[in-house]
Amino acid sequence: MHGLDRETEVLVVGFGPVGATIANLLGRYGVRTLAIDTATEIFPQPRAIALDNEALRILQAAGLPEGAFETIAIPEVRYRSPYVGELARLQTGGCLDGHPKLVTFYQPELESELRSRAVEYPSVTVALGVELVDFVEEADGVRARLRHRDGAEHIVHARYLIGADGSKSRVRKALDVGFDGRTYAEDWLIVDAKLGSSSLDHIEFRCDPRRPAPHMPAPGGRQRWEFMLLTGESAEQMERPEKVRELLLPWGSPDDMEVERTAVYRFHARTVARFQKGRVFLAGDAAHITPPFAGQGLVAGLRDALNLCWKLAWVLGGLAAPGILETYDQERRPHAKAMIDLARLAGRVIMPTSRAQALATGVLLRALRLIPAARSYLEDLKMKPQNQFDHGLFVERRRRLARGRLARPKTGLIRGGMFPQAWIQRGNDGCWSDDALGDGLTLVGFGVDPQEHLGQAAAEWRAAGGTCIQLCHRGQRLHRGEGDHVWEDISGAFVPGIAPVGWAVVVRPDRTILHDGPVAEAARLVGETLALLGAEDAYSGRSDETGPGATAASASAATEAHR
Ligand SMILES: Cc1cc2nc3c(=O)[nH]c(=O)nc-3n(C[C@H](O)[C@H](O)[C@H](O)COP(=O)(O)OP(=O)(O)OC[C@H]3O[C@@H](n4cnc5c(N)ncnc54)[C@H](O)[C@@H]3O)c2cc1C
Repeated sequence: MHGLDRETEVLVVGFGPVGATIANLLGRYGVRTLAIDTATEIFPQPRAIALDNEALRILQAAGLPEGAFETIAIPEVRYRSPYVGELARLQTGGCLDGHPKLVTFYQPELESELRSRAVEYPSVTVALGVELVDFVEEADGVRARLRHRDGAEHIVHARYLIGADGSKSRVRKALDVGFDGRTYAEDWLIVDAKLGSSSLDHIEFRCDPRRPAPHMPAPGGRQRWEFMLLTGESAEQMERPEKVRELLLPWGSPDDMEVERTAVYRFHARTVARFQKGRVFLAGDAAHITPPFAGQGLVAGLRDALNLCWKLAWVLGGLAAPGILETYDQERRPHAKAMIDLARLAGRVIMPTSRAQALATGVLLRALRLIPAARSYLEDLKMKPQNQFDHGLFVERRRRLARGRLARPKTGLIRGGMFPQAWIQRGNDGCWSDDALGDGLTLVGFGVDPQEHLGQAAAEWRAAGGTCIQLCHRGQRLHRGEGDHVWEDISGAFVPGIAPVGWAVVVRPDRTILHDGPVAEAARLVGETLALLGAEDAYSGRSDETGPGATAASASAATEAHR
């Protein structure tokens, strides 16, 4: 393992889709990163097939432009029962925060894209065919023993270690943080096949106790079927070509289908007791695994990646106190668990164990559809747990406003919730708002320039990797020569969509709302933000050379200063 440094800031164990996303994000933030994987090649068989708008937004944050990998937007997810007909029709068409609500994709293509981009970052090193053997935590970092497939060993010292090493995670076992939950009794046969032509555009769940079977289209003329194995059926039996042909018959002639792969899986619903122990973090399947019925396994891992990476970058850059890292577990674990619970609930509908249970579930769901509010809760995806934290790294709202302070107007801003994304424009230039927010902390002013209200706090904000932007309502008359931080909100999603003119919000690099208030109090919002990050000590002696829009650069420059 010649050429590998003995020191790094973050060691990422596992270069699957979650590890590769982490490497890209850390690369963007300028963090010195070593990513390793036992395997030398991408796992060729796709497991994940569906991603939601949040996942696509995270991949956008990780630097993947639209179209970087092929997707198919799915307008509906239908649940059908052989006894009572259609049970539910989830409305997944259209966009949310700039991305389709649900797409299917081809996992190896996404992974290949993530890998090739990660190695482009000067601060990222990737070593394949290298496994983590063991590690010990020390006062200032983690000392890890790595072994190349040729037997050569290498010791690396990292300030932090992330275990993104999948469901059998060695990192998790070493941390001894449990992996509680359940393993399903049933096995499932996954069949991916290419079809000459097909009009299938939606996902369909056949909720039949005799053989539950989800079925969906995927890019490249592919389709996926998942067939539950029945009592007495073995994996070997089910994977036989003649059996696969028999299973596929209801969907057309198997002669017109090219079966690409078959594999039998057993699903689990498990989470660790803690996502962090000392300087070691778990992300992706290493921390949580879910049955795929809600299509949220990888999505949850991507949420982990975005939540954790900027915090590590800020701490390593001396821009925040190490204590903020504890909010990773606080914020991510409850949400990952809620998604698993949703998948388990969906599993009960999809795989009824008997005709009687299928009938009872069917009748109940049909009845619920007659009640408009219940139907909307079910079919307009309101059941899906919001990515919104009860506790964590945001300024929790006081119950009563201080005397004399402006009464809080009604806004759509929830601290600890996600800041939306919409299309914005400046002159003839348009972009998605996340791209204008950039990689750092952003103070957003609605209809008013927040910079003008920062006063002396402006320098401190810049030093903290903070930038400012102003979102104007469509057609707002702007001063001539306004800065390049002023953008017009084309769709009205922001002003007055979620906040009135004169309001301001602090948005974290992972697009979580950290603070909000009147723009006239921008200096206070910034002060409270920096205090929350534990920044008082972190900024002493720093220069304010970092300019607006250069947050990633500022983070890496600060990293340099910190070394
Ligand atoms: C049938 C099925 C369907 C699914 N459908 C969906 C879906 O539609 N949507 C969705 O979001 N999710 C879905 N999932 C879940 C999704 O596939 C996983 O959550 C995701 O692939 C996990 O990615 P990961 O990077 O955490 O782990 P992995 O992909 O398992 O990657 C872990 C990596 O770590 C490496 N590694 C392990 N140990 C070591 C070590 N000691 N040293 C170095 N490297 C190591 C491995 O070689 C591997 O490359 C599905 C899963 C299955 C099984």
